[in-house]
Amino acid sequence: AKADTHDSIIFHSDEMNIELEKRIDLERSLRKGIENNEFFLVYQPIIHSTTGEIKICEALLRWVHPKWGLIPPLEFIPIAEETGMIHSLGKWILNAACKQVKEWQEAGFKNIGASVNVSAYQLDSTRFIENVKRALELSGLEAKFLHLELTESVMIDKSKKTVSMMRELKGMGVKISIDDFGTGYSSLSYLKHLPIHALKIDRSFIQNLNQQSPELSIVHAILTMGHGLGLRVVAEGIETNDQLAMLTSLGCDFVQGYLIEKPLEARHFTQWLEKKQK
Ligand code: C2E
Ligand code: CA
Ligand code: CA
Ligand code: CA
Repeated sequence: AKADTHDSIIFHSDEMNIELEKRIDLERSLRKGIENNEFFLVYQPIIHSTTGEIKICEALLRWVHPKWGLIPPLEFIPIAEETGMIHSLGKWILNAACKQVKEWQEAGFKNIGASVNVSAYQLDSTRFIENVKRALELSGLEAKFLHLELTESVMIDKSKKTVSMMRELKGMGVKISIDDFGTGYSSLSYLKHLPIHALKIDRSFIQNLNQQSPELSIVHAILTMGHGLGLRVVAEGIETNDQLAMLTSLGCDFVQGYLIEKPLEARHFTQWLEKKQK
């Protein structure tokens, strides 16, 4: 038994070393990853709930690391935030998404827009507005086709700077959505003060949605409040026909999830668009 304990301690510390090595290596290789084209975006359609028309696609970041393979965004984005790399990574994401969506527009899908996730850390830098302007200029994408997804954490510490940045973005014609809505702890009063276009109901509420679940009341309340404030409401993470039917009958404007389509690489998204057009 003693030997076992000993073995498991050694094993455990090996595991920790691997985690530590991975962490240090991830930090170091984030920068190189951009230069080496290890990052790419996948796109997930967000469609109108009743007409099925495509409105926008959400750009989601992927990283294939030369040693560790595909690393989920939730594993490396926090490191990018802590190390400040999120600024250059975020700039790359904005440029890549705008350029891609403009290409789809030029291929004939004239009204498709891009929805880009923005970390709260990105709003700490005044360069952010410049990066957005630059991405629109470089790609030729009209501002009204760019949506930025912010989480409620941005609203919690709503410094004057963040608010004025959001106003400036709106002034440019860029739209702002609140992502993972309902999971934050911020006061709802920000909704009436800030220039927000849409709310995205968090997947956790959609997952457990049925006629008997408390989630039904929550989703219903979000829709009533959102619409009352003149906002669009999007439901994310729809996986079943029942969920889709309920959200549609509740009057949810836009829907997104594996049931409609999973996030696709650009060339597969092009095929998806072509197939849908027929
Ligand atoms: P999120 O913004 O809430 O993105 C939705 C996540 O749910 C994505 O995971 C997406 O692939 C997944 N998803 C979509 N439909 C379904 C569904 O029907 N069922 C289930 N189970 N999952 C679904 P992903 O791509 O792993 O991204 C995770 C998180 O990483 C994102 O959550 C976002 O917070 C962050 N992230 C991803 N890309 C970016 C980015 O470009 N910039 C920043 N700042 N964050 C990003
Ligand atoms: Ca999102
Ligand atoms: Ca979300
Ligand atoms: Ca989420």
